[in-house]
Amino acid sequence: MAKIGNREFVTFITSRELQMRVKSMAEELTADYRGKDPLFLIILNGAFMFATDLLKEIKIPARLSFIKVASYRGTESTGEICELIGLSENLKDKDVILVDDIIDTGLTMKKVMDKVREEKPASVKIVSLLLKPDAFGNQFDVDYVGFTIPNDFVVGYGLDYDGYGRNLKDLYKLK
Ligand code: 5GP
Ligand code: MG
Repeated sequence: MAKIGNREFVTFITSRELQMRVKSMAEELTADYRGKDPLFLIILNGAFMFATDLLKEIKIPARLSFIKVASYRGTESTGEICELIGLSENLKDKDVILVDDIIDTGLTMKKVMDKVREEKPASVKIVSLLLKPDAFGNQFDVDYVGFTIPNDFVVGYGLDYDGYGRNLKDLYKLK
């Protein structure tokens, strides 16, 4: 059990289980991208720990870059604006792999994908450690999923509760 902020959490997926699954995801990616020149775009903050473990097990040449998503309300004519902060790479004709911690409603990933596609990459695939199918439905393909989980709030292994818990090596869920 862990107390994070003012809430109690119980262990949900252990570090060992996470490591094993992440390693096999990396093996799959290594096989699928052999002979290509992939660019991993890691979505901060949540994906930092997952990406670290994943990238260490990628056995082909790969580049990586870290981005943040900023969403804010624009003017009436522009509607909601999404900005990718930290994206300095030219994505044209690249094989882009988006790496995120969790897909819940999918809104965040959809916005990132739309932005990335504007740059005309050769391909875009999505890797997410966690997927909550309840809220997500099946709006777009998530190409590589670590674990499909119920609609519980989870913390640890990069994911936070009110800013805390990102450094925990196991994944917890609300008690
Ligand atoms: P979406 O746009 O897919 O609804 O939400 C994605 C974002 O919501 C994630 O990047 C994450 O910040 C947050 N989120 C969704 N579910 C959880 C959860 O169970 N735990 C934590 N810590 N964050 C979550
Ligand atoms: Mg995230």
